Amino acid sequence: MSSFKALQVSETTEGRFETRIVERTTDELPAGEVLIRVHYSSLNFKDALSASGNRGVTRSFPHTPGIDAAGVVASSSVGEFAEGDEVIVTGYDLGMNTAGGFGQYIRVPAAWVIKRPQGLSLREAMILGTAGLTAALCVDKLEQAGLEPGEAPVLVTGATGGVGSIAVALLASLGYKVAAVTGKADQADFLTRLGASQIVERAALQAGVEKALLKEQWGGAVDTVGGDILFNVVKSLQRGASVACCGLTAGTHFQASVLPFILRGVNLLGVDSVEIPLVVKASMWDKLSLQWKLANLDDLSQEVGLEELPTAIERILAGGQVGRVLVRVD
Ligand code: NDP
Repeated sequence: MSSFKALQVSETTEGRFETRIVERTTDELPAGEVLIRVHYSSLNFKDALSASGNRGVTRSFPHTPGIDAAGVVASSSVGEFAEGDEVIVTGYDLGMNTAGGFGQYIRVPAAWVIKRPQGLSLREAMILGTAGLTAALCVDKLEQAGLEPGEAPVLVTGATGGVGSIAVALLASLGYKVAAVTGKADQADFLTRLGASQIVERAALQAGVEKALLKEQWGGAVDTVGGDILFNVVKSLQRGASVACCGLTAGTHFQASVLPFILRGVNLLGVDSVEIPLVVKASMWDKLSLQWKLANLDDLSQEVGLEELPTAIERILAGGQVGRVLVRVD
């Protein structure tokens, strides 16, 4: 049994949610085949939902969030993993109802664990984290639907956020022209540095909700925000183009009609990074470590310790996130 440090979220008697650093022991962790000493985690929007008591993400408290973890196997009861192996865990139930990566140890089923690909350090893997995996899944799905670099830009909404910023960088590195939608006018330089060739104000994507179709503009799109912005993207795709939909920061519902689908043959593609088979996750991590490896990973992130996480959680909940938050778990 080892004692360790973890960020814990608890519910007060008044129904508020508080975070603090606590000492825990590995005996208190759930059953599982692989015990991992976490070195890095990352902050995703879902972690902030968990930390603020969203029951759709986490049913019971006290709880340690962190849907991402990268670290070293401390012990394993299965042959595939041995003490000392460097591994990555993202998604499934980690950080939702299973104690997550904002603690120095996690214990999880072997079926959730991926060996670190050679081309990425544990730190780089967590700069990407679930956000990077999701951006990669979106680009992969768009390419499977026929997207190729061309004249028409690929639109990315929520572009300064975690998934959005990596999608911008990844698409640009693959030779696509990228139009970045943002509510943060002061972050145009950041987006241009990542490779965006056009900055679109979020307000432009919020207008025209009542119209059935909008001007055909985009060769494809990665939508991280949902709501009516998503359907305005659908309405402004070029004929036959696709949008990969993965997020909900602008809302879960949208007003829609069949017209863009039946008049322009566009496609709305759903992307889940959480419950997909481990082999699919592993193949995306391989891509992200090789042919899709980003040169500017450090430009994409700021590093915080567990103590600084509460401030970062407030910022992401307020829509103020710029790039990724890498969490050092030492
Ligand atoms: P971030 O908070 O880092 O990024 C979201 C971005 O959305 C913000 O930075 C902001 O970008 C924009 N935004 C925020 N509020 C609004 C609003 N009210 N209207 C329009 N745009 C807004 O979150 P993540 O990148 O971690 O996650 C993005 C979304 O994707 C979340 O909804 C998350 O739950 C989801 N997600 C889904 C996954 C899946 O498997 N399907 C996996 C990972 C994430 P800007 O200011 O530049 O416009």
